[in-house]
Amino acid sequence: MKKIAVFPGSFDPFTIGHEGIVRRALGLFDEIIIAVGANALKKSYYPLSVRKEMISKVFHNEPSISVAHYEGLTVDFCRKNGANFLLRGLRTAADFEFERAIAQVNRALTPEVESVFLLTIPEHTPINSTIVRDIIRSGGDASRFVPSAINLKDYKGEDL
Ligand code: ADP
Repeated sequence: MKKIAVFPGSFDPFTIGHEGIVRRALGLFDEIIIAVGANALKKSYYPLSVRKEMISKVFHNEPSISVAHYEGLTVDFCRKNGANFLLRGLRTAADFEFERAIAQVNRALTPEVESVFLLTIPEHTPINSTIVRDIIRSGGDASRFVPSAINLKDYKGEDL
């Protein structure tokens, strides 16, 4: 059976932390679907189409990676796409506690989908989308925190 993993997140924006996790996971799975969560109730800085475009730029040379979006439960998206793994990244003990609860509930809902966690490299531990977004909104240079394929000057965010 093909090993298909879903890497879900808000990716507002996609950072080098996310990129690192996906690149390391390439050797573990046959296919990775990067799934941008579209939450109607949670306003994002970058529109959904922009977030998907940024991620597609990063992986345009990787045939085993695709970019999609979804609404609703992540495990339902996995089931619909034949994915048997849910990929997540871990930075800190706080991430672990948060992810533990989600993974255990997901497992209760959908036992056939296994959650897999990769620990971030030490240099990526402090990087999160909220901080990167704050730098961008305040006019700072956040380019070192996003993959080199993403030129932040090409994109405009929306007021939150
Ligand atoms: P969410 O809104 O679901 O937290 P994010 O886009 O913030 O979505 O994160 C998606 C996944 O990437 C999560 O598993 C998160 O822990 C992981 N992640 C975020 N930043 C990093 C980082 N710097 N290093 C490793 N993993 C990260």
